[in-house]
Amino acid sequence: MLILVINCGSSSVKYDLFDVDGTGRDLCRGIVERIGEDSSIITHEVRGAEKICKKVSCRDHHQAVEIIRDALLDENKSVISEASEVKGVGHRVVHGGEEFSQSTLIDDDVIKSIEKFVPLAPLHNPPSLEGIKSCRKIFRSAPQVAVFDTAFHHSMEKYVYCYGVKYEFYEKYGIRRYGFHGTSHRYVAARAAELLKKPFKELNAITVHLGNGCSAAAVSGGRSVDTSMGFTPLEGLVMGTRSGDIDPAAVTFLMQKEGLDGEGVNDILNKKSGLLGVSGISNDMRDILKAIDAGDKRAQLAYDVFLYRIKKYIGSYAAVLGRVDAVVFTAGIGENVPAIKDTMQKDLRPLMGKKTKFLIIATNEELLIAKDTYGIVKNME
Ligand code: AMP
Repeated sequence: MLILVINCGSSSVKYDLFDVDGTGRDLCRGIVERIGEDSSIITHEVRGAEKICKKVSCRDHHQAVEIIRDALLDENKSVISEASEVKGVGHRVVHGGEEFSQSTLIDDDVIKSIEKFVPLAPLHNPPSLEGIKSCRKIFRSAPQVAVFDTAFHHSMEKYVYCYGVKYEFYEKYGIRRYGFHGTSHRYVAARAAELLKKPFKELNAITVHLGNGCSAAAVSGGRSVDTSMGFTPLEGLVMGTRSGDIDPAAVTFLMQKEGLDGEGVNDILNKKSGLLGVSGISNDMRDILKAIDAGDKRAQLAYDVFLYRIKKYIGSYAAVLGRVDAVVFTAGIGENVPAIKDTMQKDLRPLMGKKTKFLIIATNEELLIAKDTYGIVKNME
């Protein structure tokens, strides 16, 4: 059964087509980028064939989905011959608020709920909604499924997700910790269970997603019990351009000193902090590592700050879990910089004991979205 996975960003749409009851591998994948700019680009890769990259005109997300459909139907590289061969579309949706604890078949009510959570994820939920609405028209016969980044963390206890602020703010505005990257944490934790030959329900793991965004999660009994991102994806670990944890009083102090409004300070903490802010060089770990090799002290400091925060979170989740079977590193940095895993393994060995395995596992959020979608649509025909 063919399942299409759609992941909409503010100016891009990623896609991935899986034959889920075949090999489980994707048939093709790609991305439409620079949506809304003068010249957009589609990169389309059919398994076993060369990657194609071409300029297209694409004013919005709806047109991007049309371009994706046409790429899938392209007669030269034909992956499918009719749009109706796609039997389900799985959408990555960042924020499902308190409503969604698992992947969900999309209907008008689900769309309304995702709209309701736009104030909590103003950059992420609107493009997802565009993608969902377009796919409902363009892949008309395929049921649409929403897979939420927040859903896996729905299992956190109230005392874990509640901030130490006036309870009315939670009731009035939904200010609490939600957590993100849930699909990635769930995927790598389940893979760790497979690798350790343990039932997922019996595994205690700490999963550390280190990509453009970074977060850690404590997973026990197949459920997330705590995670480092909070009300927004800004809390927790130091990231490429995001600060992670910071004393809120430093934020108000900075606003006064620099004459910033809410939007201004938000911009600084989200886009100009983290590895980029501390190093003054780049948000990309590859550049940081190069600069360290060249003797740059600020790059070294950025790396040290980044690692120290990871170590503190892993240590605190060891306290939360009691027994830790696996510490798993994943995503762009986690998968490609084994020195981070090695450092943690060396430094945390006395705390963890001998039995804890330190692993690098490649994440595959798209595959999990496809599998969740398949699980929902397979009985619908
Ligand atoms: P992701 O969000 O998972 O795609 O991760 C993106 C980040 O991974 C980039 O910003 C880089 O900092 C980092 N990254 C990707 N490849 C490498 C690599 N070979 N070495 C170090 N960092 C990498």
